[in-house]
Amino acid sequence: MPASERHAVVVGAGLAGAATAVALCRRGWQVSLLSAGDQVADGASALPVGMLSPHVTRRPTPMSRLTALGVPITRSELERGVPVGQGWQPVEVDNRGHDTGRHPAALVRPGALVQAWVAEALATRRLSLHLGAEVRALERTPAGWRLSGPGGRALAEAGTVVLAAALGCRALTDALGMALPLRPVQGQMSLGPLQGPALAERPQRDDGVFVPEYLDTGLRPRWPERLWSVGSTYRRGATDTTLTEAAHRENLERVQALAPMAGQAMEHALAEGQVMGWAGVRCASLDRLPLIGAAPDPVAPPATRAAGVRAMPRLPGLYLNCALGSRGLALAALAGQTLAALIDGDAMPLDDDLRDAVDPARFAWRQARRGPG
Ligand SMILES: Cc1cc2nc3c(=O)[nH]c(=O)nc-3n(C[C@H](O)[C@H](O)[C@H](O)COP(=O)(O)OP(=O)(O)OC[C@H]3O[C@@H](n4cnc5c(N)ncnc54)[C@H](O)[C@@H]3O)c2cc1C
Repeated sequence: MPASERHAVVVGAGLAGAATAVALCRRGWQVSLLSAGDQVADGASALPVGMLSPHVTRRPTPMSRLTALGVPITRSELERGVPVGQGWQPVEVDNRGHDTGRHPAALVRPGALVQAWVAEALATRRLSLHLGAEVRALERTPAGWRLSGPGGRALAEAGTVVLAAALGCRALTDALGMALPLRPVQGQMSLGPLQGPALAERPQRDDGVFVPEYLDTGLRPRWPERLWSVGSTYRRGATDTTLTEAAHRENLERVQALAPMAGQAMEHALAEGQVMGWAGVRCASLDRLPLIGAAPDPVAPPATRAAGVRAMPRLPGLYLNCALGSRGLALAALAGQTLAALIDGDAMPLDDDLRDAVDPARFAWRQARRGPG
């Protein structure tokens, strides 16, 4: 794969990588999408069903503003590429605690959106998709970057590389000396086939979400076409995705609080061994905001201590799109479009303060401001 000026390599084919790849292809870039698994959306984006909704706070925060921008973008991407009933469905959700009331939302199978983005990009003939391509090393060359896999096998070379590999970004950037504060947060969702009427009129949310009915013909064969779900648990620092009875019980408590009738049904299903589960690992940053932007140069000294984060030195041609945490559906499309605009040198769809809030160099910048020791 020769390095060329309008050729980018994107690493990771989950929501973040697929959103970046399609945004670059729409802008005319040739993109090589490399991912470790044997299919796209094999990481956290394999979630059977998630909720697309904004993160609402009493006063605006960077996350509430990002999701307010991101939700309508994802929604229009769904409308553009994924038929209702084959990967998503619009709903209303009853918020029981925080931000009480009924709100518009959507239930989404992230893998359907990833597949739609990849299919669109492949149809432009500007995308080449490489599955089973685990990137083990990233090395600077005079022309840009060389990526290699197990045993040093050459995978790709390009002047522009986007790391969208969730926690996989950590090993790759650690080797460059970046020490990005990315943390795993494991979670388990409980679900099961829905037989008979739904046990609540619409999804209920407080500490977790109970989805009484989700219909998706694309869920087969792994999952039933019509299901209920509740989740998810939250285990900071854990990476083991083995399903546990304890996590099902935690989810049972959630559903008992949100919809008592559904709680009884789930308790019965648990006793009968009929509850299914899915566990995955979210990638979160120390300040819980995503990392979207140019990678910091860990070796070059910062411009001046007083200068803003944007003055931090960068590694030419290397970008990050990761740490979407629990908000991948709300953030991925916005993140992909933002990054593609940055790479093209165009205005980014984010206000300056939001751009700084998601800048991957912010941690190094804060460190530099505090000074040595
Ligand atoms: C239990 C649970 C419930 C959730 N519920 C919701 C929800 O309701 N709403 C919501 O918006 N979000 C939810 N999320 C979060 C959402 O799933 C994530 O934010 C999103 O999927 C992250 O996408 P990603 O592309 O960053 O990461 P991933 O989907 O994990 O993709 C990373 C990709 O990188 C690849 N990769 C990793 N390392 C390498 C390497 N070295 N070389 C090549 N490829 C590599 C992997 O194979 C994978 O394809 C939930 C997550 C969990 C775990």
